[in-house]
Amino acid sequence: MKTIDKIYINGEFITPQGTEYFNLISPTTNKKLGKVLLGNQKDAQNAIAAAKEAFKTFSKTTTEERIQYLQNIKVAIEKRKSEFIDVMVEEYGGTLQFATMSYDFMLKGFDSIIDLLNTYDFTKIMGESEVQMTPLGVVGIIIPWNSSNGFICSKLSTAIAAGCTSVIKPSEMSAQQTQLISECLHEAGLPKGVFNIVNGLGEIVGAEISRNPDISKISFTGSTNVGKIIAKEAVETMKRVTLELGGKSPNIILDDANLNQAIPLALIAAYMNNGQACIAGTRLLVPENSLNKVKELVKEIVTKTIVGDPKNATTAVGPMVNTKQYERVQSYIQIGINEGAEILIGGLGKPEGLEEGNFVKPTVFINVNNQMRIAREEIFGPVLSIITYKTEEEAIEIANDTTYGLQAYVSSSDEKRAHKVASQINAGRVQINGIGHDPMAPFGGFKQSGIGREFGTIGLEAYLEPKALIK
Ligand code: NAP
Ligand code: MG
Repeated sequence: MKTIDKIYINGEFITPQGTEYFNLISPTTNKKLGKVLLGNQKDAQNAIAAAKEAFKTFSKTTTEERIQYLQNIKVAIEKRKSEFIDVMVEEYGGTLQFATMSYDFMLKGFDSIIDLLNTYDFTKIMGESEVQMTPLGVVGIIIPWNSSNGFICSKLSTAIAAGCTSVIKPSEMSAQQTQLISECLHEAGLPKGVFNIVNGLGEIVGAEISRNPDISKISFTGSTNVGKIIAKEAVETMKRVTLELGGKSPNIILDDANLNQAIPLALIAAYMNNGQACIAGTRLLVPENSLNKVKELVKEIVTKTIVGDPKNATTAVGPMVNTKQYERVQSYIQIGINEGAEILIGGLGKPEGLEEGNFVKPTVFINVNNQMRIAREEIFGPVLSIITYKTEEEAIEIANDTTYGLQAYVSSSDEKRAHKVASQINAGRVQINGIGHDPMAPFGGFKQSGIGREFGTIGLEAYLEPKALIK
C-alpha cells in the first residue's frame, strides 16, 4: 500500500497543507493500491507564488540553457523506462502495448521540442518592426488521467522552451504516475520554482489556478464541460487559454478503400487507450453497399480482440479508469439500445471472467444515425457506431455534422481522392490511410473540441506574447 503525501513546490518535495486523502484504486481489480494526500487552495497559491518568482530569472534564460534543461529531463526519464510503463499499467489500466508506445512518444517529444528550439527565431522582423516573442508568464497546466505523464511532458516542455514557469495540477487518480515524473523532473536540476506540481481536486486546486491573477495562461486537456468553466473563469483576468477538449471523430471509409486494411485500422482508432482517447475514431462512416462486408470484418476482428489484464502483452483493451467511467460507458450502451441502434457485437455488462475490474465489452453498434446521442456525445470507452452513407458528399456532411472537430480519419486506395475529402473535413487533424503523430504539426480542435493548438511552431507560440518595437 503506497501513501503519497508530498507535493512539489519551489524545488522541494513538501507536505501539503491540505488534509484530505484520496484513495487510489486499481482499475483492474478494484482493490486499493494506496492513497494520496491532496493539496488545498493555499498549496496552489504557494505553488503559483514560487512559479511567479522563478519567472523573473527563467524568462531571461537563453535557448541553449533551456535545451540543456530539456535534455536533462529526457535523460532522467530514460533511466526509469520500466517504472513509467508499469505504473501506467497498474494505476491507470493502460495496456502494456499502449503504455509502451505512450512512453516512447513522451521521450521523443523532447527531441522534437529541442529541434524546434534550435530553429525557432524569438526575434522576427514584421513590416518595418522588430517583433520579440516573449514568454507569457506563469502557466497553469491542468490535465486528466488518460495520458497523465504524456500531457505533463508535452505541456511542460513547451513552457520551458518558451521561458515560462509552470504550476501543474494532474488528476488525483494519477498520483503514483505523478510521483514518478516529479522525481525525474527534480533530478533534472531545473532552477527552483520553474515547475511546481500540486495534487488536488479540480474544484479546489484547478479552480484556484483558473482564478489566480498571477497565472497568465492555462493549458488544459479534459472534458468540454470543464474547459468551458475554466475559460469563463480565465477571461476575468484575460488569461490566455489552450483547451484540448473532447471529440467524436469520424472515420470515412471511401468506396474504393481496401477494407482489409481500413477496418482493422478503424478498430484500432476506436479502441485505442481502452477507448479513453479524445482522438478516438468513434463514428465509422461506411458506404451503404459495403455494410455487409464491413459487418463481417468487424465481427471477426472484435471477436479476436483480447480484453483483460492490461499487463499482458497481448491485451488490446484494458479496464476503464474507475467505476464511474465504467458506469458512464454502460449508460451509453443502454442509451444506444433505447435509441433503436442495434448491437453488432459486445453490449452491456462485463466480459466473462473479468467481473472484478472495470472491464467493458468492446461494443459496435449498427443502424446508427448521426442524430442519436451515441453518435453525438463523447462516450470515452470502447464503443463504436457504424453509420452508412450513399455518396461522398453525404459522408462529408455527416462527418462535419458534430459539435466537435478534433480529429478525423479517411481511407481510400486513391490518395488524391482521400486528400480532397480530408480537406473538406472540419477537424484539427485528419489522418489519411493510417494513424500517426507528427510532433511538428499542430494538434487541437475546431469548434467545441477546443481553442488553440499544441506542438510545433504554433504550439510554442501559444506560450509567447509578441511585442513589436516600432521605430
Ligand atoms: P475533467 O473533469 O475534464 O478533468 C480534467 C482535469 O480538470 C482534472 O485534473 C480535473 O480535476 C480538472 N478539473 C475538474 N474541474 C475543474 C474546475 N472546476 N476547475 C479547474 N479544473 C478542474 O475530466 P475527467 O473528470 O478526468 O473525465 C470526465 C470526462 O472528460 C470523460 O468521461 C471524458 O469524456 C472527458 N475527458 C476527455 C479527455 C480528452 O483528452 N479530451 C481526457 C479525459 C477526460 P479532478 O481530476 O480533480 O476532477
Ligand atoms: Mg472530474
